[in-house]
Amino acid sequence: MKLVLATRNQGKVKELTNMLCGSRDRSCTYPIEVISLENYPDAPEVIEDGKTYMENAVKKASIIAEYTSHLTLADDAGLEVDALSGAPGINSKRWAGEDATDETRIAKLLQALEGAPNRQARFIAAIAVVHPNSEPKVVLGVCEGHIRQNPLGASGFGYDPVFVPNGYDQTFAELGEKIKNRISHRAKALEQAIALL
Ligand code: IMP
Repeated sequence: MKLVLATRNQGKVKELTNMLCGSRDRSCTYPIEVISLENYPDAPEVIEDGKTYMENAVKKASIIAEYTSHLTLADDAGLEVDALSGAPGINSKRWAGEDATDETRIAKLLQALEGAPNRQARFIAAIAVVHPNSEPKVVLGVCEGHIRQNPLGASGFGYDPVFVPNGYDQTFAELGEKIKNRISHRAKALEQAIALL
């Protein structure tokens, strides 16, 4: 059975594939062949205009499942920072502008937190699984932590170089994919999603 990952974010494709298949190749522990939107260059661009992570994940998975006619998994994630009243949250991608890069997003976050005594934050991920012509299923995973004063580490993507998960003193980007893929918001959501698959 084919499973389409409804994302063009290579960081997410790598993480989800490794978590589902446990290795760099795509021969999975599960009876599934993982493919991504790389295989569907003309797939529709999904506008993420939902009010919640769950709404966006379900929208992405449903549109891509209809387009590909295959079982589809989509995630929507964000970083919520207490001192910023939960921002960037659901706007984590566009918060620093449409053309932002991971570097400019991190720079804006660190600037917004300058002098803030409370740097607690959490990553949240919703994962939706949709089989064409059936009801979507959606689950949520959370990873608590805090934001460092300056970026460290080269692994992962997005805000990983400034996010230190609770129980560790290194960032996701320093801890590397093996540890991140065990404790992250996406890992927690995927564990529940696998039970649904
Ligand atoms: P998306 O809308 O789910 O693609 O995610 C929004 C943004 O949140 C991404 O562009 C990243 O900047 C950030 N993000 C989501 N998941 C992670 C993660 O696991 N690590 C670091 N940043 C993340």
